[in-house]
Amino acid sequence: MNSLYFHIPFCRRRCRYCDFFSTTDDPVKRDIYVALLCRHLEMIGRDAALKNSLQTIYFGGGTPSLLTVEQLTLLLTKCRDRFGLATFAEVTLEVNPGTFSGNYLQQVRKAGVNRLSIGIQSFADQQLQQLGRCHNVDQARTAVADARAAGFDNISLDLMFALPEQHSEGLSREIEQLLQLEPEHISVYGLTIEEGTEFKRWQQQGKLIVTDEDEYARQYELLRARFTAAGYEHYEVSNFARPGHRCQHNQRYWQRRGCLAVGAGAHSFVESGYGERWHVAADLVRYRQLLATGTDPAELLENFDRRGAMVETAYLALRTSDGIDLAAFEKRFGESLPHAFPSVFAQLRGSLVYSDGRVALPPQHWLIYDHLIASFF
Ligand code: SF4
Repeated sequence: MNSLYFHIPFCRRRCRYCDFFSTTDDPVKRDIYVALLCRHLEMIGRDAALKNSLQTIYFGGGTPSLLTVEQLTLLLTKCRDRFGLATFAEVTLEVNPGTFSGNYLQQVRKAGVNRLSIGIQSFADQQLQQLGRCHNVDQARTAVADARAAGFDNISLDLMFALPEQHSEGLSREIEQLLQLEPEHISVYGLTIEEGTEFKRWQQQGKLIVTDEDEYARQYELLRARFTAAGYEHYEVSNFARPGHRCQHNQRYWQRRGCLAVGAGAHSFVESGYGERWHVAADLVRYRQLLATGTDPAELLENFDRRGAMVETAYLALRTSDGIDLAAFEKRFGESLPHAFPSVFAQLRGSLVYSDGRVALPPQHWLIYDHLIASFF
């Protein structure tokens, strides 16, 4: 276990499409929260779940760039003291344009962050306003320029697609604008309308026209074609990377490797047995109360049996271009993959590709990934 995730559940304001756990509480609450994270880290350190130096740390949210440099430094120092940090550890901070100023990114880099994931989302101000983002296109470009000036050479940019009334022509222009910024990594997200969001209400009131399936597929294919032509490897359903710049932290999720998580609303995966998934309630008051009484706030969500672990190993790996290592699967579970899932393999026969002892679902099938992997359940 040598990965750690921090959930930072604060945002300047709520985006209209978002159902992630975050609040718009004031900065004082952030100070208290950082102290709670430190206490949570000590608790994790006590049970020695993290036995080796950390190889990846990920600050996700919410909006982690609302943390001050001092708060980030405190958390990273705590990590170093408690667990150690591998020499080439990947330390990622999610940042939102417009939430920092001055030499913030330079200081963040000095504190030990070496990878930024910047939530640009769109290159059209009108779309950003509709989404309820707290920044405009100019601020997004400035954030990337500031990151480069601060010396960051591992930058990921997020781009959304299938936005209301968005068409392929408009998306094409946005893709070119994104490529001009020469990110090392790109994550793409098709808009989905989630329960409890403002967009859901707008949709119910007939005020939001969502993209149909055909247009969604056209836009996904457009992203795939253009980014791969520009030299990016499409290595996971939603992720593209320049050679050598895959996100190490997120790869661990798809490889079903352990990752501990701290913070309200955070999820951990522990590799013991066939795997356990733990979660911390998305409730700041409860988080504080439990930590105040010395109680570990994590609760067991799922204790996998052999079959459950086999299913999850397979369907997570099929999200990636690496696919599944057949020998490793058989060694781990004492049964070959085709033997464990004969009907699935019969069904996917025309879609799977075998090479170097691995089996993978090629990227051109990822658009219907959800449909294809349904047969595992
Ligand atoms: S900034 Fe991110 S986490 Fe916060 S509301 Fe917007 S999409 Fe959600």
